[in-house]
Amino acid sequence: MRTEGDRESDNVEDQRGMMGGRGGLVAGGGVGTIIIALLVYFLGGDPRAVLQPNSGGGGAPSGQLANPSNNPAEEKLVKFVKVVLADTEDVWRDQLPRQTGKQYRNPHLVLFTGRVQSACGMTSTASGPFYCPGDEKVYIDLAFYNELSRRFKAPGDFAEAYVIAHEVGHHVQKILGITDKIDAQRGRVSKEQYNRLSVRLELQADFFAGVWAHHGQKGKHFLEPGDLEEAIRAASAVGDDSIQKQTQGYVVPDSFTHGTSRQRMAWFKKGYETGDISQGDTFNSNDPN
Ligand SMILES: [Zn+2]
Repeated sequence: MRTEGDRESDNVEDQRGMMGGRGGLVAGGGVGTIIIALLVYFLGGDPRAVLQPNSGGGGAPSGQLANPSNNPAEEKLVKFVKVVLADTEDVWRDQLPRQTGKQYRNPHLVLFTGRVQSACGMTSTASGPFYCPGDEKVYIDLAFYNELSRRFKAPGDFAEAYVIAHEVGHHVQKILGITDKIDAQRGRVSKEQYNRLSVRLELQADFFAGVWAHHGQKGKHFLEPGDLEEAIRAASAVGDDSIQKQTQGYVVPDSFTHGTSRQRMAWFKKGYETGDISQGDTFNSNDPN
């Protein structure tokens, strides 16, 4: 992905090395713990049982904040995240009013380490990146990108960009009122039906990520050879991008089962090929081939 000289977003909140809530600094637990937590999640368990506060070894010494600027590779990644977020702002501020008549408002993106407090509750790194409709913020622990590359075998900068674009896709759903509509169904339909709606919500976020890529490419020509494959690999690999704990009555889209790899790739591709929001009604249309 070409990003040289691109604008960086001002809407990134850097909370790395801080702890979101009670109890002071949490010593991250390290990559090993995260892997175990992910495994627990894939096997159907609750990774929070593994990633409880104070259970981790390693990380910054208690009471001392990690200094985020000590690691040049990580700072490069932070810059990249800011550029990608700015790219999503540019595309959606232009396309959302143009295609739907609705104004776009920029979400914030919070970088955190270990655990974070949001309007959706306390969440740990094991949940993966997520969007909280309650405060309209995207939350990412950069450690997730190591997982994406190593554990999920989906490396590459455009894979990383896709992850952000997917979460921003949930923000677009919030603005369009789709999140509330699905939330209103909770308790009124069967658990199976509600789970199905949640999957369709996820697939639509993939579709919106594709719509972003379409218009970003049109306006900025940011794609390099292999980029789309990177995103598709990521869409396929991290089917379960989050298990956000939900509170306060909000739907948290990533709390539920995601679609299959095939479905996710298909909807991302359709968004990329059409760039047309109206073709992304994942709730009432069949999956593209
Ligand atoms: Zn999602």
